Amino acid sequence: MDELKLKSATQFAEKLVKDAGLQFPIDILSIAQERNILVAAKPASSKGVSGMLIRSGNDFAIAYATHIKSEGFQRFSIAHELGHYFLDGHPEEVFRNGATMHESKAGFGTVDQIELEADHFAAGLHMPSHLFNAATAKFSDGLEAVQGLAKLCNTSLTAAAIRYAELAEAAVAIVLSHGQTVDYCFSSESMRRIKGYRHLKKGVLLPKNTTTSNFNKHPENIASGLEMSDSTDPSIWFHIDDEIDSSEEVIGLGEYGRTLTVITAEIPDEDEEN
Ligand SMILES: [Zn+2]
Repeated sequence: MDELKLKSATQFAEKLVKDAGLQFPIDILSIAQERNILVAAKPASSKGVSGMLIRSGNDFAIAYATHIKSEGFQRFSIAHELGHYFLDGHPEEVFRNGATMHESKAGFGTVDQIELEADHFAAGLHMPSHLFNAATAKFSDGLEAVQGLAKLCNTSLTAAAIRYAELAEAAVAIVLSHGQTVDYCFSSESMRRIKGYRHLKKGVLLPKNTTTSNFNKHPENIASGLEMSDSTDPSIWFHIDDEIDSSEEVIGLGEYGRTLTVITAEIPDEDEEN
């Protein structure tokens, strides 16, 4: 994976938003309209396909899937396709060998470089750092911030959570899981800097007896979008040495079939020491 190219994909999208002077929620369709890109809803031909970029000569169109009803997910899918239109080398790659259509699986579930770049572009477009950081400051750390930001940016909770973990100053981690399995985890820089921190890897089992582990034993919790929270010991998640007061907030993601966990560690503020 080329981390530098992922970063520049995000930055490219952020610049588009800045140059157009857009505010939250970012008007994704206006960006497409300005380039005469037609955007239309379309039932997906196969499950798992989030959207398509279609080319006819120099004309482009985007079709986005509607099998997941969330507007946030659909907006992310459109932005992902815009990434294939805007990013350096993408049109050449997705329309290789005379192809006229590219099918995507948006949403950070892939290891394909070109798809990941489009996901990073989509995150940067919906949640550019120059607007996102200022907005984050208005909320309490943790799930409240994730929910508030998702609403403000009109994105899915998952997309907002990933971006939050990437940009937050607080020591936070977000974990996506299903059953007793960790799908993936993202931690903020301050979390990763805590002594002894070890990353929770994709595919491992959830730590036992945690709120998340117990929550996931009841599928109806996920389907109904239930919320639960408790204190947690960060050492069982990340092998952190110090005892740091931490909270574990859990929410079921409904039809997405997954659970979002936000772990927030209360690191004593150095500025307040004297
Ligand atoms: Zn794609």
